[in-house]
This record gives sequence, structure tokens and C-alpha cells, in this order.
Amino acid sequence: MLLDRKGRSLENLRLSVTDRCNLRCHYCMPEAHYEWLERDSLLSFEELSGLVDSFIELGVKKVRLTGGEPLLRRNLSYFISMLAKKPLNDLAMTTNGVFLAKHVQSLKDAGLGRLTISLDTLRPERFLALTGQDVFEDVVRGIDSALDAGFERPKINCVLMQGFNDDEIIDFVEFAKDRALELRFIEYMDVGGATKWHAGQVFGMHDVLQRLSETYGTYEKVGGDGSAPSRTYRLPHGQHVGIIASVSMPFCGRCDRARITADGVFLTCLYADQGFSLRTLIRQGVRKESLQAVLQHVWSGRDDAGAQERLALRERQPIFSLNELRSNVHREMHIRGG
Ligand code: SAM
Ligand code: SF4
Repeated sequence: MLLDRKGRSLENLRLSVTDRCNLRCHYCMPEAHYEWLERDSLLSFEELSGLVDSFIELGVKKVRLTGGEPLLRRNLSYFISMLAKKPLNDLAMTTNGVFLAKHVQSLKDAGLGRLTISLDTLRPERFLALTGQDVFEDVVRGIDSALDAGFERPKINCVLMQGFNDDEIIDFVEFAKDRALELRFIEYMDVGGATKWHAGQVFGMHDVLQRLSETYGTYEKVGGDGSAPSRTYRLPHGQHVGIIASVSMPFCGRCDRARITADGVFLTCLYADQGFSLRTLIRQGVRKESLQAVLQHVWSGRDDAGAQERLALRERQPIFSLNELRSNVHREMHIRGG
């Protein structure tokens, strides 16, 4: 098994298929202008598929497609059908859900296993204020169409922001219960791109648990602390709620995730200053063994624990300033993939 310097294996791959996005979530893309990756720098599906094969041989068992908004990548279902033939335990995708209703059946038919839909508010006017687009209903339609297409318990990712949507925690629990969705609250992270982040806006795990217990009574911890980032709690009526406490209780010690950007940059931590570009090697037609040797070298040298290092800081600001992001766009969350 391939281990990094902290003894962590490589099992999870997050593959960003595009840097483009139709939304401008305040916590991810709050600026008026962005520079996009050159179109011909994006890896083709064949190039990405070969890279995934190499990762699988090194131990990867789970692949999640992300972006940007992955549904903006043309013919994504074709790529999913390529991935679905590979020996993986899990093939998943994270989407903002806006275009989901249109594509969900072909995603399912292509072999996508699981779906996560990001939704941070149940109020259309707040959705517009948060994302810049008046498309709340499209996302709800997308969620319902995922259920209709047979996706089992799609996940809802909800980033909580103090003073913006923390008053919707119970509404989300009820929304998830009514539709049989798996719900996960996420702490607002100071990742690259989150230039408006400030510590006072983080609504932490303990506050979420307090809100839950005020309404529902005693909860019980039933999962978490494995390599999955989410800690799961069972409410007295049996419903499960997940919390991803990347800010207040990071899980770096168990992190088994590698990330590949749409143009082939290999990142070993969401908070890393920079990654390792594989594109030139791939386009030079490097042999599989040589490519794997590079992946192995990068992973075995890995000692990142970005979120833990952030936690140790006395004063916390967004990790990269706007100038630092503009000088290296690969630091942006919408390029790294969440
Ligand atoms: N566009 C897709 C979506 O929104 O689901 C996929 C890409 S998005 C970068 C992946 C995930 O990262 C989303 O669930 C999003 O909410 C989360 N995310 C982005 N910025 C974040 C931040 N500053 N803190 C916490 N989560 C964040
Ligand atoms: Fe929002 Fe996802 Fe787009 Fe970022 S990439 S702006 S989180 S929809």
C-alpha cells in the first residue's frame, strides 16, 4: 500500500472536470472577475481516464467528480461510462444541482453511483443573494429528479454561515427527512478563493449540535472519525445528520484524498500552496510506469496537514489574498474542486 510520510494511504481521488461555474457562491467565488484555464489545457476524457487507471493501481478505490460545476463539462455521461468500467468501490459526483434534472437519467444510465448536491439555503431570495442566480427551484427539481432516477439517499451539502443561514438548520433537517436525503452541514472554510471569509462567520460543529439538541433532544454519535470527513449523529427520531468540521476539528490525520485539477495538476491537500503538473508528462506520452513513479514520489513525500495548521494559527484570515490567487489561479477552490 502506498503511504505518505504520515502513514496515510491513497484511496480517494477528487477529479475536477472543469473550472467553470454557473454560480458565484459568496464563500467560493465572490469576486467580479475570474481568469479561466485555457481550453486546450484541459485534459481530455481519454487523458483523465488513463490517469485514473494509474491512481487505481496505486490504491485509489473511490473517485468523485467535481469542479467548478461538473455538469458544465460537455458529454460528462460519456466520461462517467468510461469510469464506471473501472474497478472502483465508489463513483460519485458533487454538483450545484442547477442542471441536474436535465442530465440525471443519463448520469445514472452511465453508471454514476452516488450524488451530492450542494444547497445552502431553502429560501429563494437568499439563494439569489448567495449565488447571484435566481435558480433555487431548479436545484430542488434536480434533487427530486435524482430521487426519481433511483439515486439512493442523495447527499445534501450545506455550508453554514453565521448570521446568513444558521437559522435554517432545523428546516434543512426536516427537508432532508421529508425527501429521504442524507444531510451534511459543512463549516465555512478559509480555503483559496474564500476571500470574504472571516472567523466570525464560521458556524461550528458544537453550535450545530446544540441547535439540534434544543429542538430534538438527545442525539447520539453513530459514525465518523474514519477517513470520511463527516461525523454522523442520530437524532431521537432516528434521522442521521452529518457534520464536516474542517475548521474546528480537522481530519488531516486520516486524509486519504488526492486531487486532480481539470488541467492535470496533482494536489495533496486542499490548502497546499501549489501542486504538481502532470499535463506535460501525459501529453508527451510518458509510459504508465513512469507516470506512476511520479505519483508515487509525490504521495510518499506528502506530509500536508493544511487544516490542522490553519487551526493552530492565532489570527486566521483567508489563506490566500486576492493577489496571491491572481498570481496562481490553481489556488482557487473552484479549480481545486471541493
Ligand atoms: N460546483 C459544485 C458544487 O457546488 O457542488 C462542485 C464544486 S464545489 C467547489 C464543491 C463543494 O465545495 C461544494 O459542496 C461547496 O459548497 C464546497 N465549498 C466551496 N467553498 C467552500 C468554503 N469556503 N467552505 C466550505 N465549503 C466550500
Ligand atoms: Fe458554488 Fe460550486 Fe460554483 Fe463554487 S464551484 S461557486 S461552490 S457552485
